[in-house]
Amino acid sequence: MALIVQKYGGTSVGSVERIQAVARRVAKWRRHGHDVVVVVSAMSGETNRLIALAKSIQADPDPRELDVIASTGEQVTIGLASMALLELGVRARSYTGAQVRVLTDDAHTKARILAIDEERLRADLQAGIVPVVAGFQGVERDGSITTLGRGGSDTTGVALAAALHADECQIYTDVDGVYTTDPRIEPQARRLKTITVEEMLEMASLGSKVLQIRSVEFAGKYRVPLRVISSLTDPDLPIEEEANSGTLITFEEDENMEQAIISGIAFARDEAKLTVMGVPDRPGIAYAILGPIADAKIDVDMIIQNASVDGNTDFSFTVPRGDFAKATAILETVKEHMSARAIVGDNRICKVSMVGVGMRSHVGIASKMFRTLAEEGINIQMISTSEIKISVVVDEKYLELAVRVLHKAFDLDQESA
Ligand code: ASP
Ligand code: MG
Repeated sequence: MALIVQKYGGTSVGSVERIQAVARRVAKWRRHGHDVVVVVSAMSGETNRLIALAKSIQADPDPRELDVIASTGEQVTIGLASMALLELGVRARSYTGAQVRVLTDDAHTKARILAIDEERLRADLQAGIVPVVAGFQGVERDGSITTLGRGGSDTTGVALAAALHADECQIYTDVDGVYTTDPRIEPQARRLKTITVEEMLEMASLGSKVLQIRSVEFAGKYRVPLRVISSLTDPDLPIEEEANSGTLITFEEDENMEQAIISGIAFARDEAKLTVMGVPDRPGIAYAILGPIADAKIDVDMIIQNASVDGNTDFSFTVPRGDFAKATAILETVKEHMSARAIVGDNRICKVSMVGVGMRSHVGIASKMFRTLAEEGINIQMISTSEIKISVVVDEKYLELAVRVLHKAFDLDQESA
């Protein structure tokens, strides 16, 4: 008998029928003797609707009031899900974030969880009751409702699992796990049975949106076993089958099987590149270029400075495409002061990355990646590496091709890869 936190996302509770299916699934786990805490999102589309409603009154909504509004979606689903459970004869009780007391800081619309009071949940579990908790929301010290950022119900689930020392946090969603790459680009993409926290963080930061990044960080920090499972299967699926389905997010040290060299290929479409050409190569130049960009709160990702020729060098970096115009304007204003020859930019680029903890112990991965791309005539514009990742910047028109050829070259379509 285990203690399990099950989090159900927006699509999983997107209609009355889906909520009833959730209740059936929870009832099944209860019948097998497990203690279950349920966390739910708002019905799909609901949070968007609420935010749009708020913006129809205030274009730039007051953050405290926006949280009051945005948090109501989850309040509806906890009530509905509890009722659906009661209808099946399962004892259940709903809780808002404030009622549990998910204490957060005061950063409205992107609050961080500070502490969770798990007493009431424990008492319910003791009494054989299923607590149904609203995801995405908390309360700050002064009693104001807060929300945890879009996708924040994942973090609620993991945080509750950590607080309760649950055996597993199961994230039920509309996909059946984490894939080697986006199946819409590579139909041969394969579901991973396991992926490490570090790999998952890289995949998520590169745009694979299965889980909110913060929830993965939380799982890593508090060592919460986390599993992504489909909620679209038959709710009466045999429990052993369901328990082993999806993708388990593991901790590298615990992995006893041989690590795959590459676990997945991630990509980010909306990138842009800026190059400051012909700047004098002297101390302070990188700061002169990137200081004003950082002050404007623009995220810089890859950075390259060339070897200098005759005391002059070129300096390139990437930013999110949405910040391209702003970053270009900033560089134009500091261009004179840096005595740069020219500022050139390209907002038609993308980033493709191979991720895998197995890279740590294998050499030659980068050269194989570069050869594969060269054979397709794909020009690499920038490269960056870390212990578990190699990223390249290429023209955006090559994104799909690059993902597919790398997927094939590294046998990611094969089970034993
Ligand atoms: N309902 C919130 C959102 O749409 C939180 C979540 O679903 O995780 O972002
Ligand atoms: Mg989500």
